[in-house]
Amino acid sequence: MKFHSVVVALMSLFFVETSLSGAPVSTHKEGNSIPGTNVAKTDKSSVENQSLQRTLSIIKPDAVEENLVDSINARFTQGGLQIIAQKKLHLTKSQVEKFYEVHRGKVFYDGLCEYMSSGPVMVQVMCGKNAVSKNREIMGSTNPNEAKIGTVRKDFGKDIRHNAVHGSDSVENANIEISFFFSELELMQ
Ligand code: UDP
Ligand code: MG
Repeated sequence: MKFHSVVVALMSLFFVETSLSGAPVSTHKEGNSIPGTNVAKTDKSSVENQSLQRTLSIIKPDAVEENLVDSINARFTQGGLQIIAQKKLHLTKSQVEKFYEVHRGKVFYDGLCEYMSSGPVMVQVMCGKNAVSKNREIMGSTNPNEAKIGTVRKDFGKDIRHNAVHGSDSVENANIEISFFFSELELMQ
């Protein structure tokens, strides 16, 4: 009887010990974090390599006019990006001037703003691993003549201004540009 109690006590102790030392159950939902919130990993480069980002893409007026939206979207989705929100907008010149504020004063600024307000554009939020650089890789160089074969700008752009698409150039600017066009409600999945 006494021996039995000792065995039971030892087994209970063993059970408590293994329960406490076992791996904690994580409530963190991998793959759903936005840059800056994925702090569980300690290796900075691995965080950057795996970070799920959002970026802003715009299909420019002439490409929309020429019914290239589906073909251009296919390039981005085939490249691993998901389009989580999109809307067609005909921006006023002053709205475009505000969006492209960073380029104010440059020789192409006024022509760019005229062009971007000349007809409806398709404004989109794309999501995926390293979405900012992935979007720019698929998009290609600013000048379609210098863009790599197979990129959106090479295949659908006409010249350095009429280059089919806009894409954010950093995670910081992506967040600013996304909130210029979309509310949090519109981005809920
Ligand atoms: N642009 C232009 N002339 C130039 C350079 C740029 O008309 O010499 C236009 C072009 O439509 C480009 C936009 O201005 O996409 C913004 O320029 P940026 O340098 O930011 O290039 P992007 O980030 O779009 O590749
Ligand atoms: Mg730019």
